Amino acid sequence: MRVPFFRSPWQAPELAQRMGLRFADVLQSGQYILGSQLQQFERALSERFPCGHQAVAVNSGTDALVLALHLLGLQSGDEVLLPAGTFIACFEAVVRTGLTPVLVDSPVDDFVCGAEQFSAAITPRTRAIVAVPLFGDTCATPAIARLCKDRRIALVEDIAQALGARAYEANGHGIHAGAMGDISTLSFYPTKTLGAAGDAGALISPHAHLMDRARALRNHGRRHGLHDEVGFNSRMHELQATLLLEGISLLDDWLQERSFIARQYLEQLADLPGIVLPHDRDGHAWNYFVLRSKHRDELKSELHRQGIDTRVYYDPPIHQQPSYLQRFTPLHLPNIQSHARQSLALPLFPGMTPSETASVIGAVQAATRRTQ
Ligand SMILES: *Cc1c(COP(=O)(O)O)cnc(C)c1O
Repeated sequence: MRVPFFRSPWQAPELAQRMGLRFADVLQSGQYILGSQLQQFERALSERFPCGHQAVAVNSGTDALVLALHLLGLQSGDEVLLPAGTFIACFEAVVRTGLTPVLVDSPVDDFVCGAEQFSAAITPRTRAIVAVPLFGDTCATPAIARLCKDRRIALVEDIAQALGARAYEANGHGIHAGAMGDISTLSFYPTKTLGAAGDAGALISPHAHLMDRARALRNHGRRHGLHDEVGFNSRMHELQATLLLEGISLLDDWLQERSFIARQYLEQLADLPGIVLPHDRDGHAWNYFVLRSKHRDELKSELHRQGIDTRVYYDPPIHQQPSYLQRFTPLHLPNIQSHARQSLALPLFPGMTPSETASVIGAVQAATRRTQ
């Protein structure tokens, strides 16, 4: 059986048709920019966060990161710590805002950079940390938030992969990903837990003055009829907002489906020789299911031969990418370098059928026997 790496829920004919009717309404309304769908979506999104948080919809997750860093009002050359093992957009946003990126290694047994790794990289010039709950696991974020508070460093949470994730404190209290930082950024790139049919993103923050400024900045700095400051054009399209407004009402079902599939992988792929499964933590939003294998490339091609599409997140890591090396000196970050070479993401998406899940499991079991 052929299993794609991802199939968007919007491809389902019934949902596609329903959205076609909504799109027709928007088209007939003539309200294409900053309209009522966008306002409703921002409200619905903010309601997923603790009271007082606001949401500002923008054009992409990358724009959200650029705006977040811009809003912190840092000086050129200020240092921003970020994981070397994340999507390149985090690095681009730091460079694009004139700040100095400082890339941080992962722990030895996990992809996700935690307080320990960030803490060791703090210098007197560190002004912000970009925490990335990679693949949907936000359990490292509470300790990072405490570190930032203690050291008076701003915290940007890039929850592009972690909408709907939670972290649990020792007392059992659950905290939402995106509710621990000064500003959080979201992407609605099609493969994210809330995926659009194109590019879209958002900012989340409890600081009303920052969100007021963000609303102006995304629209050419325009406020009260004047261009208050040099802005951007980063408005979310009304059609995309229409789709995401529907999507947010389906998000909890989608998250549950993701977690159900991840659970089957965790149970049925446990103890396979040479395979390290992702940590099984409460609150994981399972945007991606990324395992590690010393024989990653063989495993990937063997799965491909059996019709299973997989992806690699992210190899090489940022500090070994040409765009980094053009501007910055080489770094040696052994843990993420090793994780990157071994990482392999299995198909995981809402609407994945039981026989598709079973095919992936069977194929991984067979391929591991063959690639040992
Ligand atoms: C997807 C993603 C982004 C960028 O989002 P775009 O919407 O594609 O610009 C940023 N950070 C992380 C961690 C991501 O996964």
